[in-house]
Amino acid sequence: MADPKVLIAGAGPAGLTVALFLARAGIPVRVLERHTEPFEDPRAATIHPPTLEMYAGSGVTDDLLAQGIRAPVWQFRGRAEGVVAEFDLSLLSDVTPFPFRLQCEQHKLCRILLTHLARHPAAEIRWGVEVIGIAQDADGVTVATAAGDTHRAAFLVGADGGRSVVRKSQEIGFEGFTWPERFLVVTTTEDMGAKGYALSSYVSDPVTWCAMFKVPGKPAPDGLGPLWRIVFPTDPEAEEAALLDRAAARGRVRALIPQHGDFPIVHTNLYAVHQRVATSFRRGRVLLAGDAAHVNNPLGGMGMNFGIHDAILAAERIAAVLDGGADDLLDRYDRQRRHVAEAFLQAMTIANKKTLEEKDPAARAARLAELRATAADPAKARAHLLRTSMIEGVRAAAAVM
Ligand SMILES: Cc1cc2nc3c(=O)[nH]c(=O)nc-3n(C[C@H](O)[C@H](O)[C@H](O)COP(=O)(O)OP(=O)(O)OC[C@H]3O[C@@H](n4cnc5c(N)ncnc54)[C@H](O)[C@@H]3O)c2cc1C
Repeated sequence: MADPKVLIAGAGPAGLTVALFLARAGIPVRVLERHTEPFEDPRAATIHPPTLEMYAGSGVTDDLLAQGIRAPVWQFRGRAEGVVAEFDLSLLSDVTPFPFRLQCEQHKLCRILLTHLARHPAAEIRWGVEVIGIAQDADGVTVATAAGDTHRAAFLVGADGGRSVVRKSQEIGFEGFTWPERFLVVTTTEDMGAKGYALSSYVSDPVTWCAMFKVPGKPAPDGLGPLWRIVFPTDPEAEEAALLDRAAARGRVRALIPQHGDFPIVHTNLYAVHQRVATSFRRGRVLLAGDAAHVNNPLGGMGMNFGIHDAILAAERIAAVLDGGADDLLDRYDRQRRHVAEAFLQAMTIANKKTLEEKDPAARAARLAELRATAADPAKARAHLLRTSMIEGVRAAAAVM
């Protein structure tokens, strides 16, 4: 195995994507991951059109399409009002070859990326290796691990998630805030589609809003088949055990379906929710990508997609610099990605949460009326779809010099 030119901390979607795109450019890479195998918790599952476009040349998109559920239509509802607006991504068929949301679990994407990486002899994943310290000098970066050894390369990409050791080691700030309430994710086999919900649906309510989407799950007989994941807000004062209680979770789901039978709750998970962006995505020979650089609430399904977009650009820029390109290419990575992280990722996910939870009756009625009018007008619907499918943000990033 050749000495790596690039080290990557973290084998999540962002880190594995950086690795694959560098390996495809013929650059030896080594990924250091503290877990001993890919981690499977119920997190991201929505993949937007630009992400499918970016992965298309690598073959990852074909594998995702084979495993995921295509959701061309998504709904915005009111808990009391029912369907307020339906948005159909087919309106964007002239702009993207993938006019739908693809619903496929994050851990399956990681497995697909690992399969593709296995075809590149110059790409190596070291499992069970925890990064604890980073030192950089004029020629390279040295990474220290919990096991007491070191790894060295010309560049390091910190793709080690929201609590990034890489980001902290470079004393890069992580500005923003944490919402007081945690989000509860309830996973059930109950077919919400049979009750009229679109494959991806948002239900606004002044008290208990929710967002839901269908995921492929694991086929029978080993698995339970397709699953629905429903995200609810929780009371900040409530005890964790009470929030995770499956009978209570079943009650929350039942309240969404008038004619319900009995159904299993497969998982309940609680997540703290943050809105933060790193004050820089680059320090010298260290770049940040994915949650290490930005975290946001999951409403709109954008965090992982955005991290993949970081990863592909970071790989392209590092490859260009290793090939003799100007150092400013890396500064431009920081300018581009940080700008859209603030102006799109943060702005949109915060706005999505506010729309869903609006308590003021007049403001809520106005917002629902605006969404109805947007869905009814093809030009407005198209603009809304370009923004919510992340296409507008990708274009805005490309325009930053
Ligand atoms: C409930 C929920 C639903 C979501 N839904 C969506 C969605 O539909 N669409 C979407 O785009 N996003 C969604 N997200 C966000 C998405 O899950 C994250 O943005 C995504 O996981 C970030 O990927 P990453 O590779 O940057 O980081 P991570 O997935 O956190 O991976 C980081 C990796 O680094 C490793 N690591 C950490 N520290 C070290 C260390 N010191 N040394 C070595 N390895 C280390 C970790 O073990 C991990 O494997 C959702 C999140 C939640 C919580």
